[in-house]
Amino acid sequence: MARDILSPNQVDMESPGRRDYWVALGHTSVWGSHLIPLTVIVGPQAKAGEGLVAFGANHGNEYEGPVAIKNLLREIRTEDVLGRIVLVPVLNVSAFRVGTRESTVDDGYNLNRVWVDGAGTTPALAGITHRIVEFVRTVIWPHVHISIDLHSGGEVARFPHWAVYMAHDNAEKNERRQQMARWFGCSVIMGSSSPGPSGINGALFQDADNLGKDAIATELGHGSSTDVRGVRYARQGVLAAAIHNEQLRGSIEPIDHHADGTQCLVGNSASVTAPYPGHYEPLFDCGAVVSKGTTVGLLHDFYRMDEDPYECVAGVDGIVISQAWGARVDQGQTILMVAEKVE
Ligand SMILES: [Zn+2]
Repeated sequence: MARDILSPNQVDMESPGRRDYWVALGHTSVWGSHLIPLTVIVGPQAKAGEGLVAFGANHGNEYEGPVAIKNLLREIRTEDVLGRIVLVPVLNVSAFRVGTRESTVDDGYNLNRVWVDGAGTTPALAGITHRIVEFVRTVIWPHVHISIDLHSGGEVARFPHWAVYMAHDNAEKNERRQQMARWFGCSVIMGSSSPGPSGINGALFQDADNLGKDAIATELGHGSSTDVRGVRYARQGVLAAAIHNEQLRGSIEPIDHHADGTQCLVGNSASVTAPYPGHYEPLFDCGAVVSKGTTVGLLHDFYRMDEDPYECVAGVDGIVISQAWGARVDQGQTILMVAEKVE
């Protein structure tokens, strides 16, 4: 099956039926384009401005999302789509092509930090990464009300599997979002308030939330691998959100931690920043229950061989939700996060 290659303004998000595209964004160096895969399936009950979009590879070295969405391209049948489903297995094609977090061989930006005013529309912000932002804002956002952004830890951090939603003051909205996150089946569910999960600004997740969409993000593995459960959770979360929001016909059963009631909802978190570059030694696995004051990991300085390592201490009673993945860490890197259990 050959995909149509076309420019963003030729993408048809409204006509009934299925379309598989390569959306071409001009290359700043070679004579050609970056091609972003986008599939849109529009059913008979699609409403203007409503639909679900799932993104993989916002970061180019995180693979559970891309694999799960690629599988869904074959699994979701057009006749079962009621509303609008948009599948983008690889969003940052520049980064994915070379297997890096950022658009390393092009403008060097991290796509999940550049959802800023003027991205892709002002001359100073016209590299491929900012133009991917503009593409999503102009082509996709007007047609969806649910955004699922499937991340993993890449080479930065390790996590228990988690799904995070943007907390909302409106109880009904908040509950709907929390349920959407729970349906992934992960062990940890997090309600986040802006700015992002770890003080991050300029994230896709936030841009979706700013526009009033139900925004879900995940961490489904780490180490630039393809995690068995991570792929399973990604598939489950996208299908459940599509079915429960009347975009897809069908029924679905809860899985794993969602099914057996072992999901943990977490709230406020405390993080530890590396005060100097060094080597991180975890003393607990991610997902461990720890008390405030517990030393969860040690930061070693091999140039001060005979000094005690720096103790990375839990700032709250809770669950270890993130630690450095690689042993070598930079000064200023977030190397530990512990979050309080809400229930
Ligand atoms: Zn990521």
